[in-house]
Amino acid sequence: MNRHIVVVGAAAAGLAVTEQLRRLGYDGDLSLVGAENHPPYDRPPLSKRFLAGELSAEQLRLAGPEALDRLALAMHRGRRAVTADLDSRTVTLDDGTVLTYTGLVVATGVAPRGLTGTGPSDGGGEPGDVGRPGTVGTLKTLDDARALAEQLRPGRRVVIAGGGFLGTETAWTALALGCEVTLANRAATPLAVLGGHVGSLVGERLRAAGATLLTGRTVRAVHQQRDGLPEAGRLTVLLSDGTRLPADVVLGAIGSVPATGWLASTGLDLSDGVRCDAGGRAAPGVYACGDVASWYHPRHGGHLRLEHRMHAGEQARVVAANLLGGTEVLDSVPFFWTDQGPHKIVVHGLLTPGAEFKPLEVDPERDRFTGVYRLDGRPVAVLAWNSPKEALRLRRELLTDPRSADAPIPTAPAEPAAGTPVPQ
Ligand SMILES: Cc1cc2nc3c(=O)[nH]c(=O)nc-3n(C[C@H](O)[C@H](O)[C@H](O)COP(=O)(O)OP(=O)(O)OC[C@H]3O[C@@H](n4cnc5c(N)ncnc54)[C@H](O)[C@@H]3O)c2cc1C
Repeated sequence: MNRHIVVVGAAAAGLAVTEQLRRLGYDGDLSLVGAENHPPYDRPPLSKRFLAGELSAEQLRLAGPEALDRLALAMHRGRRAVTADLDSRTVTLDDGTVLTYTGLVVATGVAPRGLTGTGPSDGGGEPGDVGRPGTVGTLKTLDDARALAEQLRPGRRVVIAGGGFLGTETAWTALALGCEVTLANRAATPLAVLGGHVGSLVGERLRAAGATLLTGRTVRAVHQQRDGLPEAGRLTVLLSDGTRLPADVVLGAIGSVPATGWLASTGLDLSDGVRCDAGGRAAPGVYACGDVASWYHPRHGGHLRLEHRMHAGEQARVVAANLLGGTEVLDSVPFFWTDQGPHKIVVHGLLTPGAEFKPLEVDPERDRFTGVYRLDGRPVAVLAWNSPKEALRLRRELLTDPRSADAPIPTAPAEPAAGTPVPQ
């Protein structure tokens, strides 16, 4: 049989595997299967500059048409893998196509958790996603972002469930667009994963920018007034403490789950995404990378599944090398960033539960600071507020990186300015 590598999931991780395979000289057959009906695009701007109307869909593309052509892919766009059989080495798509592979890459990412208890309101409606397009939803795809952007008009009442990265970033964007924003968060501060110090600061800044923060509360239900009744279409959000909030738009930003349903019958360990070794291998000839993958991390001494954009690219490079007979492992320092309105937070390292945050260099005039997270006195992560270069310096000083000193250290990609042509 001809060599045929099938990559399922046509986003950051999946596309990067195909690019790296060709770069490494792989000249066998290559298929890329993607459920979305768009060419591969970058997700982080969806809650930021794309939602704000500052970037076009074209500018999110991860590769222009010519670059995609050069990869010589069999592209299955708008097609979903529905099952895989590791014995016969086949993947079946939702149109019945069966792809036989010599190598399989799982890069299906994560799917957002929906809000439960959403339903029509007439006193006894069934739960279900009833919002008019964009009024009750999640933010994961370009289509989601388009629908939400359509709804974020000045004066609209936006209720966001969840104060994590997605919820807070979207809150900032909605505020900038003139919406009235309420954020309901289970924890005492937004961005609880960053600890009380940074989380409280983000909360203060969001409040100062006009958001209402309701902490220690979750969204229990969303009701929409049925058509034909007075105020048809009006949304009411019911919080866990009984508070009722009128809303025009409701966004669920309450986490995500690995998209592994199609692998259920494979026997792979899917306890938290696809469990892999330190080189991304889940089974003979089967690899996983990106948000869906839980890799053994030698530095951490355990398995980690990270939903960070740059990590997806790093894992993809290792997977491509190993598909071609390499023996690479990934042991780099994780990295991510989040844009909180005008503030950029970058974190290098692993935010380990129980680690204590201590500010290091504080510059109130320029609204900047750095800090370090320590667990049992040992630095496990560094954070910088509005000073990404300082984070790089601290990373070098405090977090040893076993890769070669020449290894590139990641930085958040600069989003293209409006009108910048997509590189081919
Ligand atoms: C709104 C938003 C903002 C973000 N901002 C940041 C940020 O600021 N910083 C940061 O570090 N990270 C950020 N992230 C996370 C980052 O985007 C992810 O880490 C990255 O996209 C992971 O890429 P991936 O290819 O692994 O998975 P995904 O991007 O989830 O892509 C997986 C693809 O697989 C497809 N798929 C799923 N199931 C199937 C199937 N059965 N068959 C075929 N295709 C399938 C999906 O449709 C999807 O297109 C953000 C994410 C979102 C949603």
